[in-house]
Amino acid sequence: MYTFDYQRAADPKAAVAALAGDSDAKFLAGGQSLLPTMRLRLAQPSKLIDVTRIAALKEIRVDANSVTIGAAVCHADVADHADIRRVLPGLASLASHIGDRQVRALGTIGGSLANNDPAACYPAAVLALGATIVTDRRRIAADDFFVGMYETALAPDELITAVEFPLAERSAYEKFRNPASHFALVGVFVAKRADGVRVAVTGAGASVFRSPDLESALTANFTPAAAQAVTVSADDLNTDMHASAEYRAHLIPLLTARAVTTANG
Ligand SMILES: Cc1cc2nc3c(=O)[nH]c(=O)nc-3n(C[C@H](O)[C@H](O)[C@H](O)COP(=O)(O)OP(=O)(O)OC[C@H]3O[C@@H](n4cnc5c(N)ncnc54)[C@H](O)[C@@H]3O)c2cc1C
Repeated sequence: MYTFDYQRAADPKAAVAALAGDSDAKFLAGGQSLLPTMRLRLAQPSKLIDVTRIAALKEIRVDANSVTIGAAVCHADVADHADIRRVLPGLASLASHIGDRQVRALGTIGGSLANNDPAACYPAAVLALGATIVTDRRRIAADDFFVGMYETALAPDELITAVEFPLAERSAYEKFRNPASHFALVGVFVAKRADGVRVAVTGAGASVFRSPDLESALTANFTPAAAQAVTVSADDLNTDMHASAEYRAHLIPLLTARAVTTANG
């Protein structure tokens, strides 16, 4: 490791102020993405502002219409939360299958969303459920948040403070995981809401995306067969050492059908 300054922020305002004027400084949450990047010298921040001790960022609130999760809540706490398991089982299940035990104990929802890894799991839930990303200065709809590979609508000094999820009638996440990293080779989150079905796909493209064809098919008929009847084009999907674009295109309706089966209980 090379040298850098480390500071713990006591509240969101102090965290943002600590970053001000230093374009090389970065927020630090669980470090599960940032520290490996630093080890590889792909990032060399001069200063890290640790946001994991900010009490307001560690809260989980479940009410009649929504679930609000503080940005510094770790994956394990979402996976184990009894009320989230009851009202948004797809979200709790997604969190329970991220990485391994250590990653789930340290990695946070805010860090995952800010990082926007193309194979990350949370972006699929946030987009399918139509969540709102709350920052120190504004509210960003999920549809406007994910801009491209590792790119979001966040300004460089903008801190995610919480994520608000509206409840869905049914929800489920299915991932075909990379056996080494556990990231999604393809992951599909399905959310059935009063106004229709939303389907978000991760791992298959440059960034998470919605599938209008699967959404209309499932809004008309929320069954695994309706999902399986949809053909997904391989155009614009990723080909890498793990899978071809055609294989990923094949997996998308298959995983969607499995998610519908799970959502239907
Ligand atoms: C072995 C391994 C397996 C993994 N498997 C999976 C998997 O299966 N699925 C999956 O989805 N992920 C997986 N991950 C990634 C994991 O979920 C990370 O926790 C997550 O990507 C980053 O969260 P973090 O809290 O560690 O963020 P950090 O690494 O601390 O930060 C990541 C980035 O977000 C920024 N940041 C952090 N918090 C905030 C905030 N509140 N506001 C604004 N910016 C912020 C940081 O400055 C940094 O740029 C895996 C990681 C590892 C090491």
